[in-house]
Amino acid sequence: MADHTSGKLLVHLKSGKEKSLLRKHPWIFSGAIQAVEGNQAPGETVEVFSSKGEFLARGAYSPQSRIPVKVWTFREDEPVDESFFEEKIKQAMLLRKKIFSGKLPDAYRLVYAESDELPGLIVDLYGPYAVCQFTSAGTDRFKELISAILLRYAPEGVYERSDVDSRLKDGLELRTGLLCGKSFPDALPFMENGIRFTCRPKDGHKTGFYLDQRINRRLLMESAAGAEEVLNCFSYTGGFGLAALKGGARSVLNVDTSASALEIAAEQASMNGFSPDQFKTLQADVFQYLRSCRDSRKTFDLIILDPPKFAENFVHRERAARGYKDINLLAMKLLRPGGKLFTFSCSGAMDRDLFGKVVDSAAADAKVNFRITGYLSQGPDHPVSSAFPEGLYLKGISGIAL
Ligand code: SAH
Repeated sequence: MADHTSGKLLVHLKSGKEKSLLRKHPWIFSGAIQAVEGNQAPGETVEVFSSKGEFLARGAYSPQSRIPVKVWTFREDEPVDESFFEEKIKQAMLLRKKIFSGKLPDAYRLVYAESDELPGLIVDLYGPYAVCQFTSAGTDRFKELISAILLRYAPEGVYERSDVDSRLKDGLELRTGLLCGKSFPDALPFMENGIRFTCRPKDGHKTGFYLDQRINRRLLMESAAGAEEVLNCFSYTGGFGLAALKGGARSVLNVDTSASALEIAAEQASMNGFSPDQFKTLQADVFQYLRSCRDSRKTFDLIILDPPKFAENFVHRERAARGYKDINLLAMKLLRPGGKLFTFSCSGAMDRDLFGKVVDSAAADAKVNFRITGYLSQGPDHPVSSAFPEGLYLKGISGIAL
C-alpha cells in the first residue's frame, strides 16, 4: 500500500480561500484550488496549504469531484493511518454512548460521515452486524482497513451498501457485498421503541432501515392514542404505522409504491401481533391516493407524510417545494377536526425555513387552522457538527388541525 503520510500530494489554495477551513469546515471546492502537485490518484491523502504556504489540513483527494478535497484532519501532527481511523471510530462510539447515556439501542448509526469527522463513511449497526456506505474516494481507498476496525464493533460481520449515487461524483462504481465476517444474513431482526423489526440490509433502502426517524416514530407513538384511522404515506416497511398501532391507534393504512416494502411491512405487523384489519397496506402513488381521498371526502385522524428526497440539490428546490406543497395541502384537507399531521422533508436542499413556509402555506390554502406542536429533526445518532451544518437534512413538523 502507498505511504499515505508522506504528503507527496500537495494542494495550494487561492488567496483568501482558507477561511472556511480555519472554521473547520471539511470541504474544499475546486474553485478554491490554485494548484495541485504530485501523484493525483483518487483517494490519495493530500496536504493542503494556504496561499502563504501555511499548513491547513490533510484530506482525501478526488480529482473528478467538484469537492476535490474532503478533510480528514486539521492537525499537522496527525497522520492518516490505521490508528487515525481506529481513533475516529472509537470517538464516534464514545459519542453514541454519551448520546444514549450508555444504553445503546439495538440499531443505530455509529458513524455519520462529516459529523464524525469521517467524510464519506456511514456505518449503521444492527446488533452485532454493521452495514456501511463508502461514499467518497477517500473512504473507498481505506475500505479494507476501516472494515477490519469495524469488526471490533460488529463481530458478526460487516456488509457494504455502497450503491449510492454520490459515489459516481467521485468516479467510483456502485458496490455491495460482504466485507468482513463469514456470511451476512438477508434479514436482521432488532427492536425499536418496543416494536420488533427486521430490516433487509442487502436490498432495502439505505442500509436497510430509516434509523434517522426513530425518535419521530417514538413521538408519533406517544400521540397516536385514540386515533381511529391513520394514514401512513410513503410508508416503506411500515415503521410509522407500527408505531401508531403500538401507541394505541385503532387502524392504519400504509401507502407506498414498493410492493416489496409493503410485503415486509405486513410481515412485521403480524410479528408484532397486529391483524390485517388493523394494519392495512396499499400499493399506490401517494399523490394520486391523496387526490382520490379528497375527491371521495375520505378523512383521517392522523396522517404521516415521509416522502423520499424531492430535491437532489438547489437547482431542484423550486420543483421540490411544489411537490411538498402539493402533498401537504392535500393532507391538510383530509384531516378531521383535531386531526394530527406529521410531515417531513429529507431533502438537504430544502432548509428548515423553506419547509416551514411550505407547510404554513399549505394550511392557509386548505383553510385549516393549524397549530404546530413540534419541530422535528433526525435522531441524535445522526448528530450535526456546528462546523458542518450541511449534516442536517431531515426536518419535520407535527401539528394539529383545530
Ligand atoms: N417512513 C419510512 C421511510 C420512507 S422512505 C420509515 O420510517 O421507514 C420513502 C418511501 O416512499 C419509499 O418506501 C418509496 O418506495 C416510497 N415512494 C416514493 N415515491 C412514492 C410515491 N409517489 N408514492 C408512494 N410511495 C412512494
